[in-house]
Amino acid sequence: MKKRVGFPNALLFYKYSVLWTTFFQELGAEIIISPETNKIIKDLGVKYAPDEDCYSTKLYFGHTLYLKDKVDYLFIPRLGSDHEVNVGCPKFIALAEVLKSMFPDIPKIIMPFFSMAKKGHGRFKILRIIFSIGFRFTINPFRILISGKRAFDAQFKYEKGLKISEEELQKWENSEISLQNLSILEQRETPLRIALVGHSYVINDDLSSVSIKNLLLSRGIDLITPEQMPKVLIEKQMEKLDYNMYFNYAREILGTAMHFIENNSIDGILQLIIFSCGIDSIIGEMSARYSSRKPGTPLLQLVIDELSSETGVLTRIEAFLDMIERKNKFRRKELICHSHSLILDH
Ligand code: SF4
Repeated sequence: MKKRVGFPNALLFYKYSVLWTTFFQELGAEIIISPETNKIIKDLGVKYAPDEDCYSTKLYFGHTLYLKDKVDYLFIPRLGSDHEVNVGCPKFIALAEVLKSMFPDIPKIIMPFFSMAKKGHGRFKILRIIFSIGFRFTINPFRILISGKRAFDAQFKYEKGLKISEEELQKWENSEISLQNLSILEQRETPLRIALVGHSYVINDDLSSVSIKNLLLSRGIDLITPEQMPKVLIEKQMEKLDYNMYFNYAREILGTAMHFIENNSIDGILQLIIFSCGIDSIIGEMSARYSSRKPGTPLLQLVIDELSSETGVLTRIEAFLDMIERKNKFRRKELICHSHSLILDH
């Protein structure tokens, strides 16, 4: 019988799902992924996670407990960083141990530790991790090696498909192309272009984000998210800071906000901030300060926690979109008046 491996569908699973699931699938394991966050999962998380944890971590607890009796193993890697210098959130490293100590009856956790920022954590370390996991599922070292290779290839292809090029971004900023399905955009004559910034595990999880992404798409908004942004532009923005932003995943979010604030090339930026997330409180404040220095592009920041309601968020987003529409109309009128006065001057 195949061994069942459970993946909590939250936090870094949104970034590395392809890598992790391909690896275990290739090893011959049965993959069991918890569903997208629903009310049962949320309630489990809110009930059992420590009160002081951030909302996203609470949801991770809910996903883990949902899988508890359905799998032989849980896969909860302790990923310190995937960068030579910068680090991830400390919660990513601690979660597996915390869950194990709080719930002694949960299945065995496969919890490899990897941090590229740590000395000795290079390719050799990755190989050691691959083999230490692989031998739980097969005794064939070649199969393990091939599984690892296929997993990394699949992840690489996935990430490549997610990102857009600098050229594409420029075209999008100039309204020459759209990043969304055209039939949705046809609902608006001139679709608003908005950057939705925040953690990928918030933006792409409906319950976590109070369905903001779908709400904007259903209003015919042409959206971009940080995971689509060309890396080189993010790094350019980070170089402008007086110090190194060493929270690796925060760079993508802050860099995206800074890029659009500086270029003033889109209609607005909507930033999702998770309540009690230390990293979000830093980059939220930095985006707000940056925006107040260059106030051309409207920035709306929404703080989200387990008490956020769809109605409350909807009202604020509607007001934000209305404000942008009015601003654009005013700008168009100004342009018309200006061109009329130029003609009369002649
Ligand atoms: S980065 Fe923030 S939201 Fe994500 S797990 Fe860490 S504290 Fe929570």
